[in-house]
Amino acid sequence: MNNTQINETSELSLFSETKRQYKETNKMLLMFHIMFIIPELILSPKHMFVINIVSILFYLYGFKIIEKSKYNLILYAHLTLAEILIYTFCCIIIFGWQCGFQYWLFALVSSFLKDYVAPEKTKGKINSSIHILVFVIAGIFIGTYLIHKYVDIPFADHPSDTLVTIMVVVNAFLSFLAVGAFTRIYTEQMEYKYLTLYHMADYDQLTGLGNRYYMNDLLMQEENIGGEDNRYSLAMVDIDHFKKVNDTYGHDNGDAVLCEISQILSRNASDELKVGRWGGEEFLIIGTHNMSYKEFQKRLEKIRVEVEEHIFAIADTTIRCTISIGAAHYIEGCGIKCIMKDADANLYIAKNSGRNKIIA
Ligand code: GH3
Ligand code: MG
Ligand code: MG
Repeated sequence: MNNTQINETSELSLFSETKRQYKETNKMLLMFHIMFIIPELILSPKHMFVINIVSILFYLYGFKIIEKSKYNLILYAHLTLAEILIYTFCCIIIFGWQCGFQYWLFALVSSFLKDYVAPEKTKGKINSSIHILVFVIAGIFIGTYLIHKYVDIPFADHPSDTLVTIMVVVNAFLSFLAVGAFTRIYTEQMEYKYLTLYHMADYDQLTGLGNRYYMNDLLMQEENIGGEDNRYSLAMVDIDHFKKVNDTYGHDNGDAVLCEISQILSRNASDELKVGRWGGEEFLIIGTHNMSYKEFQKRLEKIRVEVEEHIFAIADTTIRCTISIGAAHYIEGCGIKCIMKDADANLYIAKNSGRNKIIA
């Protein structure tokens, strides 16, 4: 699969996941509005009942809008926002400021925390429209207060004290609940993104091993232990004649071999033996300060033999592969560059003296 295909696939799965979320939201909002019918029928006058029926029709049609295309998701998001704003505006005007419907406006602003408009390409547009929406919402909040204070609305309802108390309690409770829910969703989304980026920064995508950046970090940690204790070891591992594997069986099969060798390395890894992909068909192994150089060489030999004996099943056939290893041990007063140079020089000797061996 090439990069364009991967991008298309992830965009497609992002689209279907967002579509699923939108359908859930649409279902939830529709249910809310159906529930509103009962109190609206009890209360008089019936303006809110009529407005509610329009909202219910919108949410019923909402399922169709969501289905059509990914750009319709943006349309749906905007129409839903408009519906909630109009509905809240009408509630405040008809029932009065004292019933607490304006608390919903705060919940609506907090809903912008959720990354709810999916297609990546339109994200910039949505972010800029959030600024406008916040002004619109603030305008409705202040505007409805001023209308309530200075304008005598002929079709306004005058609910009893008990009803006002019930409405304030319910509106406050649900609004705080909504703010809490959006904040939680936002935190979870951020945590997921953070963990994904964290993983991408440290691990190689193909083999799943720690990457060069990660291995450098481990080396620095070993180096910084200092004194008598930072006697760590290092080995450069290189697959023998790997170019031939690629040339004969294709790059994809070459990748498969790389993955299988990585699995062998992973199986041999431990707290004292760290393995990672250094780049291309080269790997780095670190024997931490807790492991003697003798033990390190024993473990390298085990890995070398395991690779040599492994049968790689690729492209309807089986092949064998070997690795060459150049190892080195910490030298007093000589830093990471120095130990790397030694390991590299030993790898060079291993390659030039027949391959499939460890030079330490
Ligand atoms: P030697 O025994 O001297 O190391 O020979 P070699 O063929 O292994 O070494 P050479 O440096 O000539 O070739 C390394 C090859 O590794 C060339 C490159 O295409 C291949 N390679 C590097 N990274 C990848 C990868 O991610 N996937 C695949 N399939 N091949 C890779
Ligand atoms: Mg190489
Ligand atoms: Mg090689």
